[in-house]
Order: sequence, then C-alpha cells, then structure tokens
Amino acid sequence: MVERVWPALVDLVVPLQCGGCARPGTRWCRTCAREIADAPIEVRTRVALPVPAYALGRYSGVRRQAILELKERGRSDLSVPLGRAVATALLALDRWSELPAAERLLLIPAPTRRMSARRRGGDPVTAIAGSAARVLGGRVEVTPLLVTSMWARDSAHLSAGERGDNLTGAIRIRRSVRSRFSAVYGLDAAVVLLDDVLTTGATVAESVSVLANAGVEVHLVLVIAAA
Ligand SMILES: [Zn+2]
Repeated sequence: MVERVWPALVDLVVPLQCGGCARPGTRWCRTCAREIADAPIEVRTRVALPVPAYALGRYSGVRRQAILELKERGRSDLSVPLGRAVATALLALDRWSELPAAERLLLIPAPTRRMSARRRGGDPVTAIAGSAARVLGGRVEVTPLLVTSMWARDSAHLSAGERGDNLTGAIRIRRSVRSRFSAVYGLDAAVVLLDDVLTTGATVAESVSVLANAGVEVHLVLVIAAA
C-alpha cells in the first residue's frame, strides 16, 4: 500500500515528465534516451586544448534541456540517464582507441564553485560521473580533485572573455584530497576530465594544466554538450 501511495504523492509534488522533452508520464523517455546515446563527436574549442575533447552532442534539444533541468530546476534524478550516456560514450571512445589501454579509468569532474554547488544541492557533474562509474563497474573511479577558488565568480552569467579572465589561477587541487592524492600517482589509469557544457574551453584548459602541474596527465576531455 505504502509503496503504491508514495510514488503517487511524489507525482503530485513534482509533475512526472521527461527531463529531455517534457513528455508527461515518464522521467526520461525512450526517444531522449536514444538521442543522447548517439556516438560522441570531437569538438574544437576557441582556447586550444592539449588533449582531444569529445561531446555527447551539441548544446541544444534534449541535451540542453536535461542540463538545465538538472542544474537549475533540481532534477537530480537526471544524473542517472546522463551518466548512462557518458558510460556509453566512454565505451565508444575506448573502442576507437581514444583512451590509452590501462587497468583503471579515472573520471575527474571539472571544478564547481563550492558555494554554488551547495546552493544547487550537490555538484551535478560529480553525480553524473558517479552514475557513469556505477554503469561501467569496478575499473572506474570518480576522483573529484579540482575545486574553483572562492573568489572566482560564478561563470554562468559571464561572457567568454570574462570567463577566461575569471578563471586564471582560480582552479586548484582540492585541499581535502591532497593527503590522499598520492593514491593517484603511479596508477595505470586512463584519465578523463568530465564537464557538462563546453563553451570556450577555458575551464577545461586551465583544469588540464593544473592537473599536469600536479603530476596527473589527462588523456581526454568529455562533456555532455558543446555550445
Ligand atoms: Zn523525452
């Protein structure tokens, strides 16, 4: 009884609709699931990156809608289908030999400003990485090494140029993981930097360079959507 009543109550509070196309009666429809599972595309960014960057697709349609629902409207459940799509993309990239053959795969979420992550109820990129790791199994590890300094403004409303300036020197290795950081060294691992939206490439370029300075070589950048 309780099991039957509870989902009905949840539906009353949060109208049940697809996070990709707003179709009623489902949280994530088959059409959106199919669309987001397309083969990843290689992306060129305005800021040159030292590693290849791939996206599940362009920042439009189902991808744009799902990211907005997840980040701005509290649809944290969408990290599950997005994580599944990321897992599918990683398997394709592995088949295409875009990832080095290695014992493990490290997924490093791109940094979020801590305050904004807290306000939005947890970092969505880390949640997406977590569900991708659950799909792919024990070989995959989510390692949130990066954080954006407190003084960097939330980049959501900045222009591309402002974003670059805003980031310089603002991304660093998270202090709380520094002690456990040595575990990353010497691992036979393919390292993927994961982000939600790729715009100019400034965030990922800075992230890759901060990680390189700390001795972690990123092999590939993967994002949900390229603007
Ligand atoms: Zn849909």
